[in-house]
Amino acid sequence: MLIVRKIQEMQSLANDFRKEKKIGFVPTMGFLHEGHLSLVRRSKEMADLTVVSIFVNPIQFGPNEDFERYPRDFERDRTLLEKENVDVLFYPQIEEMYPEGYRTYVKVTEIEDYLCGRTRKGHFQGVATVVAKLFNIVKPHFAFFGEKDYQQLKIIERMVKDLNMDVTIVACPTVREEDGLAMSSRNSYLSPDERRKALNIYGALKRVQSLFMEGEKNVAKLVEEARRFLASVEGLEIEYISIVDCETLKDLEFVEESGLLAIACWIGKTRLIDNIVLRRDKR
Ligand code: AMP
Repeated sequence: MLIVRKIQEMQSLANDFRKEKKIGFVPTMGFLHEGHLSLVRRSKEMADLTVVSIFVNPIQFGPNEDFERYPRDFERDRTLLEKENVDVLFYPQIEEMYPEGYRTYVKVTEIEDYLCGRTRKGHFQGVATVVAKLFNIVKPHFAFFGEKDYQQLKIIERMVKDLNMDVTIVACPTVREEDGLAMSSRNSYLSPDERRKALNIYGALKRVQSLFMEGEKNVAKLVEEARRFLASVEGLEIEYISIVDCETLKDLEFVEESGLLAIACWIGKTRLIDNIVLRRDKR
């Protein structure tokens, strides 16, 4: 596996690769888990050559968020990626990504204002900006994103469409622990007791899903059920429970064919998100 730190080196490698190979790209912030590796495996299936980036992007963290303490373990990540036969690990430096005088940002309007955008001001602008930069550096044919971060996925899809970027976005399903907890680098913050509490997020998603499958369409009632479910978990604070249109992410009043049920909550100092698509025609 080649490890590339310099932007120009990555760009000239990408130019050479592109002449005869399809490049698959998996952008990450590292501290890798099976969720990330599922994206890597998808890329290995679809592309001739896979590039993974590890970059904890400072501009997508708010001033009081966890940029400093975000988990990092480069050697462990490198070993995991070598085992997956990744071709290139791109590991840029902050100073080269955002040098003195950096002024350009990508803002995907409206979709970024809902769900997590209500509390994480500027977060998605940071995400869209770094992904646009990484696309210009890695020049991929395919880029892989997890449905775990559903709003991020929709924002990237929109950006690619609106800015005519020549890359295909591939959405990959959420990978969960055996008991259902969505994998996340931030799960490493949880104590064993908090980890047990966190599992209730998936419990609430499943509870609402079964109510929906029984025929309930009313969003207020579905959301109320999730609220009741989570209210009994001591130390869990709900940030939002929303059911929104799967494409526009606008609030729904009734779920007809489909809707996205998304939850964000705090367990102690850890913010966790999860979601599930409610779909009428699914078993
Ligand atoms: P992150 O390192 O958290 O920025 O995530 C990098 C990529 O991995 C994003 O596209 C995430 O949506 C995706 N990802 C993170 N967790 C999961 C998961 N549990 N299942 C599938 N994809 C995931």
